[in-house]
Amino acid sequence: MIRGEQVVLISARATSFTAVCVECADLDASEGYASSTFAGQLDLDLNHGTFLCRRGHSVRVERASAAIAETAA
Ligand SMILES: [Zn+2]
Repeated sequence: MIRGEQVVLISARATSFTAVCVECADLDASEGYASSTFAGQLDLDLNHGTFLCRRGHSVRVERASAAIAETAA
């Protein structure tokens, strides 16, 4: 199955986050597990980053303030 890139939004001041990997959620659901979350850190000077969940799926993390700043600029 081909999916678009996963994008997770975090709050403007967040430096650490816990996100759900949708691909893992699907796998977990089919296998009866419920451990599709993973944790990451994004420093305040970074507006976005790409992380890998614990199974290696790519998840893009966007800081919420980035979109606001771009539209305001
Ligand atoms: Zn995953």
